[in-house]
Amino acid sequence: MMSDLYDLVVIGAGSGGVRAARMAAATGARVAVVEDLYLGGTCVNVGCVPKKLFVYASEYAGHTGEAAGFGVNLARESFSWPTLVENKTKEINRLNGIYNNLLEGSGVEVIRAHGKVVSADCVEAGGRLLKTQRILIATGGWPYMPDLPGIEHAIDSNDVFSLETFPKRILVVGGGYIAVEFAGIFNGLGAETSLLYRGEQILRGFDNEIRSHAAAEIVKSGVDLRTNTDIVSIEREADGELVAHLNNGEAIHCDAVMYATGRKPRTEGLGLEAIGVETAGNGSIVADERFSTNIPGIYALGDVIGTPALTPVALQQGMVFVNQQFGDDTRSMNYDLIPTAVFCQPNIGTVGLTEEQAAERHAGDIDIYTSEFRALKHTLSGSPERTLMKMVVRRSDDRVIGAHMVGPDAGEIIQGIAVAMTAGATKAHFDQTLGIHPTAAEEFVTMRTLTRSI
Ligand code: FAD
Ligand code: NDP
Repeated sequence: MMSDLYDLVVIGAGSGGVRAARMAAATGARVAVVEDLYLGGTCVNVGCVPKKLFVYASEYAGHTGEAAGFGVNLARESFSWPTLVENKTKEINRLNGIYNNLLEGSGVEVIRAHGKVVSADCVEAGGRLLKTQRILIATGGWPYMPDLPGIEHAIDSNDVFSLETFPKRILVVGGGYIAVEFAGIFNGLGAETSLLYRGEQILRGFDNEIRSHAAAEIVKSGVDLRTNTDIVSIEREADGELVAHLNNGEAIHCDAVMYATGRKPRTEGLGLEAIGVETAGNGSIVADERFSTNIPGIYALGDVIGTPALTPVALQQGMVFVNQQFGDDTRSMNYDLIPTAVFCQPNIGTVGLTEEQAAERHAGDIDIYTSEFRALKHTLSGSPERTLMKMVVRRSDDRVIGAHMVGPDAGEIIQGIAVAMTAGATKAHFDQTLGIHPTAAEEFVTMRTLTRSI
């Protein structure tokens, strides 16, 4: 009879959990993964993938308008939100199936149930007790909305993917990745869109110059960006219209209010308190560099441990965890150079230190190079959009320690720059590299004039 003892039980089949389960099973380990909602987790179902599909949809209208300058007259576009949502859902269903096949094909037992940790070596799921050598908690996060009168009328980033009716007027609240991206999506799809942010400038944590350039471009693209603005209450009128009352006394009428005010770790009902798994003030699970919690045998990774909430981070953590537990234990995480993009219009791409971080860590040793221009395409398209590219260089060893861009395809461009920086490229290496002409990306190898030293 087969023993009931697993080598690994993973709770959560998202980016981190699926990768860890598959890689562990590939070493011959006996692995089960427990999932209570959807295979593939946030990224596949209500995150990166459907979001990027919506971003693609939102960018067609801009292209149509720009074509005339090239002598191309495109027919007046029409837009069907139900078609977009339906096609997106079909694609996600296809991906769910692929995830199931990938897991089962690599020998992982998939258990569709809520998982609860009952002891350091046992998980309860779907009425079964799964005895295991190791438990890996990879339960991700969940949208957070502040508590205010009428908040029940608002939608979050989970709801937005299945909205039945396209909101013609929408307020998006927040100034982080999700708010900025969805303001761009709704604006591009033709909604009258306001982005309300409580602070001075959106995208806290990004390079300041990049933030102001991006904010100016977002405004140019048609989003009504209001900083130092917050909603104090929301009302639904008899005809279904929403009224948002702002902190400045103004009332805005709209069809939807979307909150993108951060995410909280998803740990309710996991049984953590009962067995004493340590959590931080914000609810994330405290895990060390080997993903160990304070309870031996219980590990955690991904969004639930509060490291940068990005799919490639969770994927890498899954692979490092498996290398440490089931492999030759040679790998560890390095969070220094995490490339990332915000898919607004135009995109933001970034890797390494911001100018502000560099000034703090290497004061007196920093050279900043910037290039701000109108892309070649826009000389005919008529678009007023401007691109900003920026390099942060440590003068003493010439290392490029930060690269930032606001411009079309910034995410695609920064990926290659991140490879160079991971390999330790110096400014001299960038200068020696031939450009690809005519592209925007070539600016990264032709920035010769020092903008400032700090
Ligand atoms: P998740 O992917 O959230 O997976 C956790 C899984 O655990 C879920 O399937 C959940 O149902 C399951 N679960 C939770 N509790 C239990 C339980 N008790 N029992 C059983 N199952 C449970 N990142 C990027 O890199 N690029 C992007 O463009 C990007 N866009 C995003 C857009 C949006 C709108 C959002 C919300 C996120 C986006 N992210 C993006 C972030 C990315 O989705 C997350 O960082 C990533 O999914 C985290 O992976 P994870 O494995 O930690 O958790
Ligand atoms: P973020 O933490 O990035 O941003 C939350 C925003 O909401 C901040 O601007 C914050 O303001 C504001 N906020 C927080 N609480 C309140 C409140 N009570 N009232 C008003 N505003 C508030 O979270 P997101 O939800 O945007 O995204 C979660 C994470 O998912 C991201 O951090 C990112 O890691 C990941 N993600 C990645 C994407 C990508 O790679 N392209 C895309 C989408 C998500 P303040 O700055 O003042 O604190």
